[in-house]
Amino acid sequence: MDTVTTSTSIRDWLDESSCVLVPTMGALHEGHLSLVECGRKAAARLGCPLVVSVFVNPDQFNDPSDLDAYPRPLAEDLRALEAHGVDVAFVPSVEAMYPEDEPGAAPQPEVPAVGRLPGLEDRFRPGHFPGVCRVVSRLFDLCRPAEAVFGEKDWQQAQVVTAMCREQQRDIRILVAPTVRESDGLAMSSRNQHLSREARARAAAIWRGFDAARLESAISKAEAVIGEHMESAGFAVEYASIRDESTLMVANETSTGPLRMLAAGVLEGVRLLDNAPWPA
Ligand code: AMP
Repeated sequence: MDTVTTSTSIRDWLDESSCVLVPTMGALHEGHLSLVECGRKAAARLGCPLVVSVFVNPDQFNDPSDLDAYPRPLAEDLRALEAHGVDVAFVPSVEAMYPEDEPGAAPQPEVPAVGRLPGLEDRFRPGHFPGVCRVVSRLFDLCRPAEAVFGEKDWQQAQVVTAMCREQQRDIRILVAPTVRESDGLAMSSRNQHLSREARARAAAIWRGFDAARLESAISKAEAVIGEHMESAGFAVEYASIRDESTLMVANETSTGPLRMLAAGVLEGVRLLDNAPWPA
């Protein structure tokens, strides 16, 4: 595996070749590595290299202390990527991603409606999707992937990136890999390591809430059940909502498309989010 750190070196490495890209912020766990596995299969199918980017994007953090606390175990991450058959780890600096001497290199793209209107992550993390759209567009410009892999865990993000590609008329297939969970159902996340032992034991309440919500036939009751599970575990609930799975707009009993439960909340200062199909 090669590790490259500048925009010129990733372009040179790829030359005219396309690739499969897996964007990450590092602190890799099994969830990320399942995306890498999915990317590896896609790259083998297409006969092109697999690129994994590791970049903690300051733009998408609306809370500076969250950015400071973000874990950065780079040497371990690189070992894991090498062991998973990655061809290139792209580990750019902030300057390489957003060069001040190259104006226009990383313009702020328009955020699609699904990243502005639902009142979910867009409401509780203002600035997050503009940051995601900017960094993902820049990575797409530099790596020119044929396919890129994102996690189901960040469902709204996957919808935003898919819509952005469509609106920017990029010929990139977005693959969405399933959420990898701990044995009690908690979605794996780099943030889980900030939970105390005791909070960690209560964190799977989101998942248990989803399970209980599947037994309800009315949307409003199902939403209330998720919120109740989270609150009784000590979460400050930001949202617990059932939405159209692609537009993420409010669903009601007459909605025809597939629906999804989405929830986010803060448990002892750690913000967690999750989602799952509803009813099944
Ligand atoms: P992050 O490093 O948190 O920005 O995540 C990089 C990618 O990994 C995103 O596409 C996430 O949705 C995905 N991801 C994070 N956690 C999981 C998980 N538990 N299962 C599957 N994918 C995940």
